[in-house]
Formats: sequence, C-alpha cells, structure tokens
Amino acid sequence: MSLPPAPSSEPSSPLTVLSALRPDIRAMQGYVPGEQRNNPNVLKLNTNENPYPPSPRVFEAIRETLTAEKLRKYPPPLGDNFRHTAARIFQLEPDWFLIGNGSDDLLTILTRAFVPAGGYLAAPMPGYLLYRTLAEIQGARFVPVPFTTDWQLPDPWPAPHAHLTFLANPNSPSGTVVQPQAIRRLAETLAPAPLVLDEAYADFADWNGLALLPHLPNLIITRSLSKSYSLAGIRFGFAIARPELIRELIKVKDSYNCDVLSLAAASAALEDREYFEQIRGRIRATRQRLTHALANLGFDVTPSHANFLWCRHRDRPAGTIAQELASRNILVRYMNYDGYDGLRISIGTDVEMDRLVETLELILQS
Ligand SMILES: *Cc1c(COP(=O)(O)O)cnc(C)c1O
Repeated sequence: MSLPPAPSSEPSSPLTVLSALRPDIRAMQGYVPGEQRNNPNVLKLNTNENPYPPSPRVFEAIRETLTAEKLRKYPPPLGDNFRHTAARIFQLEPDWFLIGNGSDDLLTILTRAFVPAGGYLAAPMPGYLLYRTLAEIQGARFVPVPFTTDWQLPDPWPAPHAHLTFLANPNSPSGTVVQPQAIRRLAETLAPAPLVLDEAYADFADWNGLALLPHLPNLIITRSLSKSYSLAGIRFGFAIARPELIRELIKVKDSYNCDVLSLAAASAALEDREYFEQIRGRIRATRQRLTHALANLGFDVTPSHANFLWCRHRDRPAGTIAQELASRNILVRYMNYDGYDGLRISIGTDVEMDRLVETLELILQS
C-alpha cells in the first residue's frame, strides 16, 4: 500500500491572499503605537498614561457589573446611563453624546462618515499620526497643514475644502493650545464641512471648546477617558455634537462598540468629580516642576497644557537621549517629523519625575 502523494503546493498560499488585499492597504505603513513593556521596573513615560489609579468608584462599578445576567446580555447600544451622566456633568442633553471604544474609535467613525474614498482629510502637523492612518484606510488623501513656528494655525487656512479636519487641542506632541477665536475662525472657514476638536488632553488645559459648541454647528468634540481619568486599559471615549449629527454617526458605529464593563467604569469615573479634580491638580503641579527641572538641564521645553512635555536638548540629539533612557529602563517617546525631532515625556508622579531627572543628569554628564 502506498500513501497518496503529498500536494505539491498548498491550495492557497499566504502570498495569494495577500495579493488579494486592497493595494493601498498593502502600501500603507500603519500606525505604530508607543512601546508597551510589562516589566514593573520600567518607568513608562511614552504613551501619556496617568500615573495615578482610577477613582475607587470605578472598581466598585466594575465589581457590580460582574454578574451572570449583566455579562450574558448585550450592552445598551448607545450607553444610556453614560449619556445621562455625561449630560448632567456637561450640561447638555443626552442625545449630544456618542460613546466610543476609546476616542480613537470615534475618530474612525467620523472619518468613515465624512470622508469619501479619494476625499481629503486635513490636520495640522506635527500632530497625532493616527489621522494620516485613518485617511489611508479610508482610501482618502491626507493633507498635513504645518503649524506656525509658535504652534498656531496658519491664517489663511490652506485646506478649506477638506471633507474632514482634525485639530488636537491641546496638540500632541507639542502640548500647545490654539485659542477659541482661532478655532471659531477655522470652523467658519470649513463650514459646512466639520471641524473635529480632539480634546483627549483638554482636561489638563485651562479651557476647552465646549462653550463654542452652541455657536458652531459644524464643530464636533471628542474626549477620552484614557488620560485624565486613568482608564487607558478600559478603552472608552465619547463625542459631543448636535443631536441631528449624532443620529447619523450612530448608523456608522458598530452596534455594540462599548461593553458593559467599560460603560460602568466610564460613568463611575465621570461621576467622581472630586477625585478627578484632585488628580488633575497633581498632574498640573508636577508638569510645572518638571518644566523647570528640564530647563535647568539644558532642554528647550515647550510650555504644555497637557499631561506631557515636548522638549529638545540644546546639545544632545533627542534620539540618543531616548536610547540612553531606555537602556536605563525609562521609556519616553522619541518623535521625528521629517527631520524635526524631539522627546515627548509623559508626566508621572513626583517620585517618578525625580527618577527621570536624576537619570538625565547622569546621561548628560557622561
Ligand atoms: C491618546 C489620544 C487619543 C486616543 O485616546 P483613546 O481614548 O485612548 O483612544 C486621541 N487623540 C489624541 C491626540 C491622543 O493623544
């Protein structure tokens, strides 16, 4: 008896299926998130996580959700409880809010809803690199608009016909803000196309765009619970816009884009205003301390309104400093925008910032 001959080639090799991909997806680079290391000795200052724990109420809310009944069933598709909590806190009606699996999910929903294939998506640069990736996935063109040298918007705005425009305010990596008058002017220039204010870091700033919402029908705000509420692991964000628009965006989102645990956590986190204010105050105080300490070490530090600092050393290349820190178990984000580079350093606890500053002193002495 003989065995049947082995097939000479696999029926469909991996190569075949790759050639069936959309060519623009194969050509794109993809967004590269900051490095995550699970070593407890590593000080992570590279993805702007909050160094403080979430509110104790979050733990309580998650424990209360851990019942067979609640896990067995689908979550409420629109997150009714969360919307009511948010409405109370932000003094708007619940139908102004759209829930998201992290605010990145909302940026994706907005891109899918507004930008046709072959369309244009604009954002100021250097900025959040995900915006380019979202345009590429959509088969659209990304239009980078350079900030002025002091991180303000160019006037006149050179991309008035974009289908969608993102403005991170505060911006990443700079931590700088654009003032309300400039936002108003930009929104009016773009109308009826939308301006999305990505306010992932607005809780660390002195002001935000909420007061502009009633006056600018094409303004959309996105918020994240990852940074100011210490919930990056939970994945929750929300968008705020006119109810007519929110109703359209609901058609685009996944039906159940947020799970029961994240919804419970998010509502509880938002409810605990006292805890929120306490953490926010600490981060802002430490930000000021670190700004001075880095300046004393010879860094040019951009004044920040976020929970990170953007800095460049006067003598040492940023990439080298980042490598030296990494070899000593401190991760910061080295960023290079076509040759303009620097370090983006997340604000940790005061103890963590002392460790950073001492390590930098050692590196800069050698
Ligand atoms: C962190 C960040 C986000 C994403 O936040 P998630 O809610 O964690 O998805 C969005 N925009 C900017 C500018 C960010 O830095």
